[in-house]
Amino acid sequence: MVRVLVVEDDPGIRAALLRSLTSAGHAVSSQPTGMAGLTEAVDERPDVVVLDLGLPDVDGLTVLSMLRAVSQVPVVVATARDDEREIVKALDLGADDYLVKPFGGDQLEARIRAVLRRAGHDAPPAPIVVGGLVVTPTSREVTLDGIPIELSRKEFDLLHLLAQRVGEVVTKREILTEVWRQAYGGGDRTVDVHLSWLRRKLGETAADPVYLHSVRGVGVRLVDPSAGPAGPVA
Ligand code: CA
Repeated sequence: MVRVLVVEDDPGIRAALLRSLTSAGHAVSSQPTGMAGLTEAVDERPDVVVLDLGLPDVDGLTVLSMLRAVSQVPVVVATARDDEREIVKALDLGADDYLVKPFGGDQLEARIRAVLRRAGHDAPPAPIVVGGLVVTPTSREVTLDGIPIELSRKEFDLLHLLAQRVGEVVTKREILTEVWRQAYGGGDRTVDVHLSWLRRKLGETAADPVYLHSVRGVGVRLVDPSAGPAGPVA
């Protein structure tokens, strides 16, 4: 999900942008002033900023130059006047694209897609290959030696996490945080149960591991069995 920050003082335009961006599937937040927008852009690190140039407190161009001093977040500026000098200035200050008001939601959406693509956001994550195991994040599919494996949502998330960190021991706490969004307390049993289901689906056991190697009291690591012995675990 793309996180969009809208900095716009006009409540009507702001509401319309929130509606269209939300219905396009983005996580949208908004600020009505330049300083509040700048603060949120720095603190919350959105994926893209839609910045109105005519703001009540600080000029949008000033907000843009302050933002550019600390962040490379893609910025689409929105200007009320078709003023070429203002647009050129915004682009010189590091705006990635611009829109002249009034503009429609589709047009904004196209600009956002374009700047994200240029920023490399749109590049779909590549499948992760570990030996005979292929984990494809975009389609959430897994194959083992070319044969599709049906995984539950959590099993997939767990395997994907381990595959992203192949060869590393991932602790149960990290797993709980990343897969179950649960930072503290308990849950080890949940991880163990899902690991055992995952093992069964991969056709292995804890006693006779192939891909999934438990490290007692610490966590688990995914290894490429074709890469030779996993080696000692510190
Ligand atoms: Ca305005």
